[in-house]
Parts: sequence; C-alpha cells; structure tokens
Amino acid sequence: MTKRAYNFNAGPAALPLQVLERAQAEFVDFRNSGMSIMEMSHRGKVYEEVHNEAESRLLSLLGGGKGYKVLFLQGGASTQFAMLPMNLLSEGKVASYVHSGSWADKAIKEAKLIGQTNVVATSEANKFMSIPDLSNIQLSDDTAYLHVTSNETIEGTQYQQFPDTGNIPLIGDMSSDILSRQFDLNQFGLIYAGAQKNLGPSGVTVVIAREELINNSPKNIPTMLRYNTHSSNNSLYNTPPAFSVYMVNEVLKWVEEQGALEGIEKINRKKAQLIYDTIDNSGGFYRGPVEAGSRSIMNITFRLTSEELENQFIKESELEGFVGLKGHRSVGGLRASIYNAVPYESCKALADFMSHFQKTHG
Ligand code: PMP
Repeated sequence: MTKRAYNFNAGPAALPLQVLERAQAEFVDFRNSGMSIMEMSHRGKVYEEVHNEAESRLLSLLGGGKGYKVLFLQGGASTQFAMLPMNLLSEGKVASYVHSGSWADKAIKEAKLIGQTNVVATSEANKFMSIPDLSNIQLSDDTAYLHVTSNETIEGTQYQQFPDTGNIPLIGDMSSDILSRQFDLNQFGLIYAGAQKNLGPSGVTVVIAREELINNSPKNIPTMLRYNTHSSNNSLYNTPPAFSVYMVNEVLKWVEEQGALEGIEKINRKKAQLIYDTIDNSGGFYRGPVEAGSRSIMNITFRLTSEELENQFIKESELEGFVGLKGHRSVGGLRASIYNAVPYESCKALADFMSHFQKTHG
C-alpha cells in the first residue's frame, strides 16, 4: 500500500487518495482515446465532455446556480485581484473592500491600481485575529461591489456569515474555503478561487458569477482579461489547463460521494473541533490567537509558549510523518491546513501528536 504523509500543506494541498488513484488508472489511455487527456485537442468531444461536466457539477454542488456561469481561467486567484476591478469597477464608481488580513490586503492593493477603492471595515486594530464586524456596514450608492475574503488562509480566520449587500454585488475570494461548507450562492454576485486547496491541482482558477455581471466587460481592456471573452466562449477562447480541469471534475465527483456540501461540512467541523479542543484543553501550552467567533475550520493557527518550542514541534512532527505545519513566514507560529481532502485520521494523528508533545515538553 502507498504510504501517504499526514499532509497539512496550505496549498497546493492534499488531494483525495481516491481521486489520485482514479487519475492514475486512466492516465495513459483516457476513456479509450489512446492518449492521456493532456495530449488531446481541447476542441475535441472527449475533452469538452469533461469540461462541461466539471462546470455543471460545480453549479449543482452550489445549489443549482440558476443565472450563474462558471469560468475556468488561469493566472491564479492573484490575477482575479486585478481582473475583478478591471471588469466591474467603472468610472465614477467606488470598489469597497473588507480588510481582514493578508489576502484581503493583496486584493485591495491591486484594486487601487485600477480605480477608486475604499476599505469599509478592517480588523487591523487586533492584528487581523478576527473578521471585522459588518453588522452596520454602510455602502454608498456609487459602490460597484463589496469584496470579502471568506477565509484568510494565513491568519486562520473565516466569516461565519456574509453581509447582506442588497443590490450591490457581493464578491467573495473563496480560494481557501470553497466547497468546505454550505452557503447561499445567491448572496453573491461573483466568487472566485484558485483550485489548489479544495478543488484540485494548481493551474486553474474558478470564477462563478451572475451572468449579467460578466457579460458586458469594458472593451478597452485586453481580450484575455475580459470576463465576457471567457463567458461567451465557454472558457474555451484559448487553450484551457486541461489536466487541471479534469482533476477538478474528479474532485467534484468525490465531494458528491462525501454527501455533497452538507456531508463535507459535517466532517470538516468534526476535524476542526478535534484540533481546537486539543488547543483549548492544553492549559495554555498551546494557544489559538484567533478570536473564538472568527476561527477557521480550514486553517487552524496556533502558538506555543516560545519560538524555540515551536521549532522543536515542527522538527519532531516531521520525524513522525507530518508535513506543512509551519505557519506562514509573515506571521510565524504553527498552522494546520485541513482542507476537504485531509482525512479525519490525519487530524486525529495530529491531535494525538500534540498531546504527546505536550507530555514530553510541558
Ligand atoms: N486568496 C487566498 C485566500 C489565498 O489563500 C490565496 C493563495 N494562498 C490566493 C488568494 C492567491 O492564490 P493564487 O496563488 O492562486 O494566485
């Protein structure tokens, strides 16, 4: 049997073993075509079937997505930071952003390059250890959209509910928590995500948008950066990242097999609870810096009492087969990324290791 690491990488991250094995089985000869999916025309029937399957699976997992369109793009979520304002922030309008941490910061900086950009709420005062309170958010009539980062991958915070923005389109960067829990897509005008955490391998970025928002992109922006280029060509204007799209389709099948979003959410909450309980019941040996009401069920950040002890934790965990537990270099500490494909067993092994480490170093 293949030995798999306890993989807590932040992204690219763990993929379901079943998906890897299925991909392996049909790698060389895809659906009796005599070639792999990477070797065939993206205009052919075989590839197009996979492409269309992935699109419709994604929409159906998100509750049907009536009036919404799926785009498969390249350039990562980072390109969306610019593409979004290029397409939706017109002259005389203002783009509103919630500043919740490292990734929101990047999105805001890009928007500022394009047009008038306002930060309407921020949790900077507590070092982004919570999601800003949006209950009294006021948006002016000239607001083009409100942008939120549903899960801050680096700090380990996550929205528990999304603001009601009425007629103003709500935009979500869902790179690190898409398909991890149930939510109402109809609340959003557009969501986007790099695939390499919950959807598949890197190389494809998913955009899901209300059709009317993306059908009239300004003509003065380059062709490849216009949403309507991709929406009017079923994301086949140019060569798509075929293998990545195929893998996304396989991951989506696997999500369906887990009981779709309802089933996935249940297990994700159980996984997160196990690790947060270990932190909270450690008598201060481990400390979760994120405020209780903003804790992420995808990226669990925690600290030990000294950096020296944190380094020791990483060193010993690696010897036991744990990978990716070092926190992001910008914030330090430790982080366990427990995306959809990280099995409960890996989380259990981590909780046991944490208890054992506390016994030997506490
Ligand atoms: N947004 C969030 C929330 C992320 O976690 C990341 C990647 N870690 C990005 C955007 C950037 O994604 P990409 O690397 O696909 O450009």
